[in-house]
Amino acid sequence: MKTIGLIGGMSWESTVSYYQIINETIKEKLGGLHSAKIILYSVDFAEIEECQSKEDWDKSAIILADAAIRLEQAGADYIVICTNTMHKVAPYIQKEIKIPIIHIAETTAEALKKNNVKKVALLGTKYTMTQNFYKEKIQQNGIEVIIPNEKDIEIVNYIIYNELCLGIISDKSRREYMRIIDSLKADGAEGVILGCTEIGLLISQEDSSIPIYDTTQTHAYVAALKSIE
Ligand code: GLU
Repeated sequence: MKTIGLIGGMSWESTVSYYQIINETIKEKLGGLHSAKIILYSVDFAEIEECQSKEDWDKSAIILADAAIRLEQAGADYIVICTNTMHKVAPYIQKEIKIPIIHIAETTAEALKKNNVKKVALLGTKYTMTQNFYKEKIQQNGIEVIIPNEKDIEIVNYIIYNELCLGIISDKSRREYMRIIDSLKADGAEGVILGCTEIGLLISQEDSSIPIYDTTQTHAYVAALKSIE
């Protein structure tokens, strides 16, 4: 069995989900008392969020590359960055290590292709929704990506940083997300990418009028399978 190197803590609320999904997958596939071999480097999210809000991506890249180097030295066979947003600096991190990174947008694109989705809505932080580093990975597969209007981008983003990353799950926010998903459906979205690793804590399939693509679920599942290939 290979050893998975997780860069977590962004936020730790969703790193818990990764740990659980990876171990549940190994249990389902191997049975008995089997569990995943994982090394976790969990960062202080306040430091990362400060870099994000100052748009100091270089500093965040150095912090996360340092985590990846330590995981490689500790024996990880590959790296899983447990956040969509910080894949913005994945190319820099990859240059600093020899082991591969399993890219979250690539695992999501595979799931969309499998279901023949041609037009998809993307929900995530404002960085993930409005910048190109994430969308282009989906678009490269011939899939159109749409995002909420400006006001709704702010709402989706606010709920992520001020509620979900702090473990606050509210019905009011769930209704807001449901409303936004409905309006993206009206714009032609056949599915919705839960493109932030905490959104799955708020929204499940029964809350959505279109199929959900939960990036945490898919990313963690693919990471687990790779360890027993
Ligand atoms: N976990 C979130 C994501 O998947 C947001 C937190 C962060 O900015 O890293 O993008």
